[in-house]
Amino acid sequence: MFRLIFVCFTVCFISCKKNKIDMNSNPINKSKIVIAHRGASGYLPEHTLASKAMAYAMNVDYLEQDIVLSKDAVPIVIHDIHLETVTNVQDIFPTRKRSDGKFYVIDFTFEELQKLNVYERFNSETKNAIFPMRFPLKKSNFKLHSLQDEIQLIQGLNKSTGKNIGIYSEIKEPVFHKKEGFDISKIVLDILSNYGYKTKKDNCILQCFDSNELKRIRFELKSELFLVQLIEFETEENKLEEFATYADGIGPWYKQIIKGKGENGKYQISNLVDNAHKNNLKVHAYTFRSDDLDGFTTFNELLQVAFFEANIDGVFTDFPDKVVDFLNKN
Ligand code: CA
Repeated sequence: MFRLIFVCFTVCFISCKKNKIDMNSNPINKSKIVIAHRGASGYLPEHTLASKAMAYAMNVDYLEQDIVLSKDAVPIVIHDIHLETVTNVQDIFPTRKRSDGKFYVIDFTFEELQKLNVYERFNSETKNAIFPMRFPLKKSNFKLHSLQDEIQLIQGLNKSTGKNIGIYSEIKEPVFHKKEGFDISKIVLDILSNYGYKTKKDNCILQCFDSNELKRIRFELKSELFLVQLIEFETEENKLEEFATYADGIGPWYKQIIKGKGENGKYQISNLVDNAHKNNLKVHAYTFRSDDLDGFTTFNELLQVAFFEANIDGVFTDFPDKVVDFLNKN
C-alpha cells in the first residue's frame, strides 16, 4: 500500500514537473528565438522534410512552412505559387504551363505533385543554382509534402525527443488563392486547429505579408494564434500602431533595421525595433544567411549587431545551427 502511494506520488510529481517544463519552454517566451527559414535550407533543398528534420535536430525554436494550395485544396509546403524553380515539373508535365510560362501549384492535384522531384533552388531559365555552394542540383530524392505531413513530423519528433519545437506557418498570396476560388486562410486555420494549434499558448505562429488578410484572420476568422505581420516596404514602417490592433509581431527585412555603416564606422540602426516594442510588437527579421553576408565581415558580426545592438527578438535563418551556436555563446 505504502509503495503504491509512493509510486502514485512520484508519477504525479514527474507529470506535474513535465507540464511545468512544457509551459515554460514555449519558445515565444524566450528573449531571442531562432526560426529555421524553409528548414535548414542552407544545407538541404528548402522545404523538404529532410531539411526540416535537420533543422529540428539543430534545436531551433520554430520550423517555418510557406503554404500554397494544390488543385484539390491540399496545403503544400512550398515558397512560391509556381513550381519550376524548385522541381522538375518542366520535365514531368511539359504541357501544363500557363500562358505566362509558369507551372502553378494550384493547377496540379496533390497526387500529381508527389510525382515531382524537389531540387535545390535554381534559375528556371539558366538552370543554374541560386546558391551554388549549397546542396548540389538534382541529387538524391526529395518530394513535396503537405502541411499535415510536416506537422506530423514535428509533433512526432516532439514526442520522441521530448522537445517542444513550434511551427511558424506563412499564408502565401491569399488574393491569388481567392481568385482561384479558395479561402487558403480558412483551410490552414482549420488544419492547425485540428492539430491543437488554437491560441497563443500553443506552439504556433502564423505570418502573412497581406495586412488585410491578417486582419481578417484575427477579426473575421477569429483566430487567437500569435500573428506576425510581414513587411518589406518603408511605407509600412509607419503603420505599427495599426498592426498592433491585430498582430503580435512584425517580420521585416533586416535591412529595414540595420542600415550601412556611418561615418563613425558603426552600423546605423533604424527606429523600427524600438517603435515596434513600444507598440508591444515582437520583431522577427528575415533572412540571415552566412553565405550572403552583404557587407558584413562575418556572420557572427551580423548576428551580434542584429540581436544586441538592434535588439531584435528573433531571426529567420537558412543556417539555424550557426545562430543557435551564437546564442548559446552570447
Ligand atoms: Ca516565408
